[in-house]
Amino acid sequence: MTKTVIVGAGPTGAALAYLLARQGLEVTLIEAAPDFERLFRGEGLMPSGLDALVQMDLQSLLDQIPTQTIQRWEMLVEGCPVVQIDEPAGLQTTIVSQPAFLKAVVAKAQQYPGFRFMQGSVQALIYQQERVAGVRGNQAGAMQEIAADLVIGTDGRGSTLRRLADLRLQRRDYDSNLLWFRLPAPLPVPQRSIFYGFIRGSESLGAYSSWDGSLKLAYILPRDTAFDWKNLDWPTRLAAIGPDWFATHLQTHAAALEAPVLLNVLFGCCPRWFRPGLLLLGDAAHPMAPIRAQGINLALRDVIVAVNQLAPLLKANGTASAIDQALAQIQAEREPEIRRAQTLQQHEQGQANLIAQQPLLRQALRLAAPLTRPLISRRWLSRQKDLRYGASLVRLAPDFAPDGLKFRMQVDNPTLDAAPSA
Ligand SMILES: Cc1cc2nc3c(=O)[nH]c(=O)nc-3n(C[C@H](O)[C@H](O)[C@H](O)COP(=O)(O)OP(=O)(O)OC[C@H]3O[C@@H](n4cnc5c(N)ncnc54)[C@H](O)[C@@H]3O)c2cc1C
Repeated sequence: MTKTVIVGAGPTGAALAYLLARQGLEVTLIEAAPDFERLFRGEGLMPSGLDALVQMDLQSLLDQIPTQTIQRWEMLVEGCPVVQIDEPAGLQTTIVSQPAFLKAVVAKAQQYPGFRFMQGSVQALIYQQERVAGVRGNQAGAMQEIAADLVIGTDGRGSTLRRLADLRLQRRDYDSNLLWFRLPAPLPVPQRSIFYGFIRGSESLGAYSSWDGSLKLAYILPRDTAFDWKNLDWPTRLAAIGPDWFATHLQTHAAALEAPVLLNVLFGCCPRWFRPGLLLLGDAAHPMAPIRAQGINLALRDVIVAVNQLAPLLKANGTASAIDQALAQIQAEREPEIRRAQTLQQHEQGQANLIAQQPLLRQALRLAAPLTRPLISRRWLSRQKDLRYGASLVRLAPDFAPDGLKFRMQVDNPTLDAAPSA
């Protein structure tokens, strides 16, 4: 039986291991972290990611773990709403507990006899005649070697496998990092299902209620900034960016605001995602920017394409050269959607920067808002189409999808107008 080793049990690795094991294949999933409890992991699932879960027959897991649905989007400039729009019907953007989700996926994979989970950190690749033939890693303090017919690196944006395989990351410009805050003081119920974006002066802040009711705040930290963010009165600073009700909430619960966590944004795509015997997927191949929550969603779609290409070959004990050709095909199928999403992310970021840098534009948006809000809101949503639904059709081949599965994604949602999505 062909053996696959997957390195990294984030959303990409866990979902891929589950789908391959479900096909009766032998899969070893290796994860460096001792548990899944990292606090700041991506947690926003767009319709495209939810659709991928439906196809994988994993959507029911979302009923078993804590979630929060987004029902409305509001963007405020200088405290005045300039975008206010309901989430379209159909699959709705959902905030999930990523640790609970990953645990549930791994538990499902464990139902299949070919699946093995190992806690350990991969540190080297094993080669046989210039083809990757396995990994070497540290497990419980001892070095172990695991042979494989195919190694898949799903070890995230700082990928060790990318470095070991000498696969270059081509970085894209992104001029900010993020400071993440958690405030364990829930908003009143009607506000809990709204995703907010606040711009005041040159400062921008995203705010939403997470799966546990806590308020998560993402402060955009320009890269060239020299200010000492570790020693600031953050409750006062953040309160000043939002509208009055937000300022009151933050000031009332100021003592509960947790210290910020810095996310250094790494953004780009590898010109080549594979070497003979090795494939990179998810953030390892194409780390996404944080704007409009793309990382998990695109990673889950990578998984579907990889399974379509690889499962038939692995089941038929395909030759090494047939497997290696499939790796090139996976990149060819996925790369256009990834590059499109990254271009749109840059565009969204550019628009937010423009508003933050132009006092006259902010003033104009605020004054005109009563008249322009409906139009701007509809155009904003229409521009999000590819970021919400994906830019290509990604379908799990019928042989690998559960019987009788009905796809529910509504790409032709009537609330989205026909304007081009770029
Ligand atoms: C603060 C934050 C907020 C985000 N918000 C969103 C969001 O709302 N929506 C969204 O879609 N995306 C979001 N993202 C991005 C999203 O989290 C990632 O795109 C997604 O997790 C990528 O999945 P992955 O499986 O490819 O990599 P990861 O989730 O990074 O998983 C990689 C795994 O590999 C393991 N690993 C690393 N090195 C090794 C090694 N040498 N050996 C073994 N294991 C190893 C790591 O421990 C990790 O568990 C966010 C990211 C961050 C940091």
